Amino acid sequence: MNLYNTFIQDTESMLGAPKQKWAYAERDAWNDLGESELVLMRDAAFELGGGSKPAVNFTCVTSDANLVPADEILLYGPDLKDIKADTPFARIVMLGVKEISDDEQEAFNAIQNMEFVKYHVFPEGYMMRVSPESSREQIRVSKKALKKGISFRSVGCDFIKQYKKNPNITGVRVIFVTDPNVDYKHLLETAKKVGDVTKTMNKILEGMPEDLDCASCSFKPVCDEVEGLKELHFGKDGVKKAKKECDSR
Ligand code: SF4
Repeated sequence: MNLYNTFIQDTESMLGAPKQKWAYAERDAWNDLGESELVLMRDAAFELGGGSKPAVNFTCVTSDANLVPADEILLYGPDLKDIKADTPFARIVMLGVKEISDDEQEAFNAIQNMEFVKYHVFPEGYMMRVSPESSREQIRVSKKALKKGISFRSVGCDFIKQYKKNPNITGVRVIFVTDPNVDYKHLLETAKKVGDVTKTMNKILEGMPEDLDCASCSFKPVCDEVEGLKELHFGKDGVKKAKKECDSR
């Protein structure tokens, strides 16, 4: 599973060195309620990505162990206790996974299980509103949670704790960005591309006809740009055969 590797490398080089970096420790995970919680405006200290501020979210998966060698949390910008008003925000997750099976059904199930975790983390006093269509993730942080000491480290540990319940996941890097000087437009463009790859991959794994012609397929721009999608659809031999036919025309 190397479809997202260029996005991981590009994001890392764009963000540079983090302000803070913590190793994962399960005992430091913030209390998870196991279900969504309503944080009312009057009980909120601020919103990450509130109003018209950037609020970017995306997840990249890789089976290259060198790209996600450890479970860790990275922070670019001020931590929750130092934020006093609505601020731009991004949360990016990089997941190291075991090589996903060649069996399409197994691969599809493994990916769906990872997607499931994405929407099933509920840190107390940290209400997430997610819009997958626009890659937005807005967070309302309660005053009570701040008083109790919530931090990106503890929230990141909660995310990692939930992800690690999936035996296919070998490493998790959770990145929080609150620095107003970061290029959020670039992050949003990456989020959209990542979303296109995920949509295309899901469609292929759901099952597409083997004799479908790329030239008449709506996913062609994504498959042309991202190495590995055509292989996923047709297998290595199928891609070689299609290329040969194309070259001989
Ligand atoms: S490999 Fe070709 S046919 Fe398959 S999804 Fe991509 S563009 Fe469509």
